[in-house]
Parts: sequence; structure tokens; C-alpha cells
Amino acid sequence: MSLEDHAEELASDLGVDKEEVTRDLENLVNYSVPMDEAKQSLRRKYGDGGSGGDGTPSSKAINEVSTDDSNVTVTAVVLTSGRRSIQYNGEQHVIREGELADETGKISYTAWDGFSGELQPGQTVRLGNAGVREWDGQPELNLGDSTNPEVVDETLDIDYEVGGRAALQDLAPGDRGITVEVQVLECEQKVIDGRDGETTILSGVLGDESGRLPFTDWEPHDEIEEGASVRLEETFVREFRGAPSVNVSEFSTVTALDRTVEVAESAPRMSIREAVESGGLFDVELAGNVIEVRDGSGLIERCPECGRVIQNGQCRSHGAVDGEDDLRTKAILDDGTDTVTAVLDDELTARVYGGDLDDAREHARDEMDKEVVAERISDRIVGREYVVRGSLSVDEYGANLTASTFAEADDDPATRARTLLQEADT
Ligand SMILES: [Zn+2]
Repeated sequence: MSLEDHAEELASDLGVDKEEVTRDLENLVNYSVPMDEAKQSLRRKYGDGGSGGDGTPSSKAINEVSTDDSNVTVTAVVLTSGRRSIQYNGEQHVIREGELADETGKISYTAWDGFSGELQPGQTVRLGNAGVREWDGQPELNLGDSTNPEVVDETLDIDYEVGGRAALQDLAPGDRGITVEVQVLECEQKVIDGRDGETTILSGVLGDESGRLPFTDWEPHDEIEEGASVRLEETFVREFRGAPSVNVSEFSTVTALDRTVEVAESAPRMSIREAVESGGLFDVELAGNVIEVRDGSGLIERCPECGRVIQNGQCRSHGAVDGEDDLRTKAILDDGTDTVTAVLDDELTARVYGGDLDDAREHARDEMDKEVVAERISDRIVGREYVVRGSLSVDEYGANLTASTFAEADDDPATRARTLLQEADT
């Protein structure tokens, strides 16, 4: 059969324009796609009969699925698959979540407990009558008891890696079925009020060659302890204080590794704009000039109940309280791309102030004014350039960088100026 004949057959099967089909078919064959595969791909593209009056949802390529669709049929490779236990209507349900991909793109899915398929990473599946819902502005497939799963013997040429193995730096809230190999840097047990009363969880910090992220283990695994190198399979990623956090559950597999996972010493350095646009980072290094020391810096008072900073002995939650003295600095850092408020704890503040809490109290008493502490800090740091490492959160309170280190920059200012100008150009 000639290409022309194949095109004619397809066009009449699918009820679409022959010239268009011929053009598409020529294209695919020119890219060395075998004729049978090319025809299958076009059948998918043109809907294999379409969603005519019979109510059958049309076959769609993944990049054609939109939030306007109610049901579709897709053929795709399972990239990731992770189980999660959730509660609704007072009952426990195990759902399966992950991503699917075909030649045109990828899409998230949620499979509810009525769904009869398996969804193993690497499998090619045809999902008949998959529901479409909107999640975070994007279409997502909803697989339930009315979805017909079928494993098909077909190889799709996809641009994505199967399996969900990822570096910490590449994780984003919403990722599911993720595998990481990490070193446990910090780990502590916590008792929380769970669904069924008090329950013990683990929380701490993980590191790998790319960076660090916080984690929670909801079903404490013995292998997770400080200093251990472990592989965590079937984890999911949530947002915690504006940054991604790795979640280990009862479905996760934790394996101790017989090698030590190296951990990046330094935090990724970014422009302030880039960092703020990311929406939050657990560990980042920013550099800029301190342009102002904000109110609420220097010698401050905190509520003994909740630790909030109080004004005139009044806590917003606890009313009149006996405040406890503390030191804090809120410094506005500007690198020409954007600004961020660096928040320094008592120790870092003591360093930039040049004295501890007792010195600050004495200073304030001598001058009969608490503000002198903040004023001295301001005199010492405003107009100077600093490199600040810490945890960035971006929310309704603005962009705040809780500093773990705060050091005067020793870079050559001319080099820095050129770098900033180049960034401003992009
Ligand atoms: Zn309080």
C-alpha cells in the first residue's frame, strides 16, 4: 500500500479531510516513524471516530486534554505511581497518584479505590473514559470505576524519565511517587494529635548533592535516623512554609544504602527576584545591600506563652503578659532585582550589634530608650553588602529569609555590578 492509500483509508475511517491526513502521515514517516505507529498516532489525534452521539469520550493526545473536557480516552506511559491513604465520609481510602506521558506531554492523575487497573511505572495503558477535573488550574485525570484500563503492547516515544527518581532540588509540591537517595541530616521524634489520637512521627532535614529539604515520616521507619544514607521510594511532596517538603508514608519503602550520600556544602546562590518568584526555598543563598533596618528590630519583647513579638505588654492572642526580652534584626536586602527581609535571630543579632542581651538592656537603660539598640545595628549594617543563607518563605507577610548565616560580602564589587547588570538585561 502506498502512503496515499494509507491516508485514504485513514481519512475515510476517521471521517476527516484526506489532504490533512496525508500531510500528517508524510510528516511522521519523514521522522522515521513506522507506518503502523504513524497510523495509530493519527487515529488518536483525530479521535478514532470522535465523540459522536454515542457518548463515547474521544481519544485525545495529552496536550489536547483541557479542563473543558469531562471525559476522555488516553493512551499513555505510566511515569510515576504512589499510594496515599486519605479519609472522606468517615472512611479510610487508598488512592493512587502520579503522572502519565505520551509523545505530546504529561498529565497528573488520581486513581480512586474503584479503579481496577494497576498503573505500574513503565507500562503503556489505554484509559477509556477517564474523568477530567481541574487541579491548580491544570487538567488532571480522575480514574474511577467507570474508567476502562487496558495494558497495551505499544511503545511511545516520550520525553520523560519513568520511575520518579529525583534530586531534592528538582522537587516541587504536588510531586508523587518520588524516589530519592539522601542522607538524613537532622531527625527528631514528635508526638502530634492525629486522626486516631496521639501519634508519633519523625521530622527533620534530608540532604543530597543538589541541596536540602525538610521531611516528615508519618509512619516512623527505623532506617531513618540521623547520619543514615537511605533510599526513599514512593514518597510525595507537599508545601511546608512555602518550600517543598518530602513526605514518607506507610506505603513508602525505606532502604538503608551501603554508601554515604554526599551532601552539598553550600546552598544554591540566586538573584533575589529568582528566589522570590520560586515561591519559597528551604535553603538558599542571597546577596545584596542592606538598605534599611525595619521596625521590630533590636531589643524586643516576646509573649512568654506563644513567642510572638508584643507591643506595650499586649499579645494579640494572650492579652496583657509579662514580656520576655529578646534580640532580633529585620534587615531589608536589595540586589537590584528585588528585595527580601532577612530575619536574624538573637545570636546573629548579637554579632551585628556587637553585644549580647545584657549589653543591650544596659545600653537601653543608660540611654533611657530601647530604640538605641536598633539604631546601632542600623549604623553598622545599612549601606553594606551581605551574603545571607537561610530559609525563604513568600506569603501574605512578604518575602522573609530566616537567616542561618549573615556575612559581609567579600566579592569584588565590580564583578558583582556586572553580574547584576547582565541579570537586569535578561
Ligand atoms: Zn501570646
